[in-house]
Amino acid sequence: MKADPSVQRQLLELASVDAELARVAHRRRNLPELAEIEDIEKSLRDKRDALVNAQTSTSDLQREVGRQEKEVEAVRARADRDRKLMESGSAGAKQLTELEHELQTLARRQQVLEDDQLELMERREAADIEVQRAAAEVDRAEQDLADATTRRDEAIADLDATQARREADRAALAPTFPEPLLKTYDRVREQRGIGAAMLRARKCEACRLELDRSQLSEIKGAAEDDVVTCENCSAILVRTPESGL
Ligand SMILES: [Zn+2]
Repeated sequence: MKADPSVQRQLLELASVDAELARVAHRRRNLPELAEIEDIEKSLRDKRDALVNAQTSTSDLQREVGRQEKEVEAVRARADRDRKLMESGSAGAKQLTELEHELQTLARRQQVLEDDQLELMERREAADIEVQRAAAEVDRAEQDLADATTRRDEAIADLDATQARREADRAALAPTFPEPLLKTYDRVREQRGIGAAMLRARKCEACRLELDRSQLSEIKGAAEDDVVTCENCSAILVRTPESGL
């Protein structure tokens, strides 16, 4: 294949545009914010689970408090009824003894229930504090997620802008090449990553390998408008005064 040396040198410009497009694509896939967002989302799920658990504990304890209150209420009502019966004077001696005995039992029961209630209240207070703590953690993680999402979106907008500029450069540049040359360039670029590179100081700048003696002499002997390629990476080698030939 043949191409004017100035056209061949122009390929280096296209290669630099393509290199930047490749960098943009690489950065887009490897934005640190993507991993950060994934981590925050995972920890946010855990924190939300912890909040739900804490809320379940408080509502369980609240139900328990309600049940206890009803029980205390029932014991009090029973004791009131017993006392009224005793005060009414309608109870016989045997019944009075029984009532007195029951009142003592009820008083002990009430004491136990009230102690339990106190402990239950303390546990519920601790559970309420845990709910507040867990809710604050969820808030903080949600804020972190919003921040990271904003930073990711800004980074993507930057990459979009760079990509649009370079794609415009490419669209302007590409039609200036003869079609077979551009086709070869694009094929190598798609297969190997770099379509054309400078031959500088006997090294291919695409694969960074030094060309061997036989290839160098072959290139030396080639006409200026011959398109030569790297034996190692297939990139079109663009010769300049720095090539070391
Ligand atoms: Zn090479």
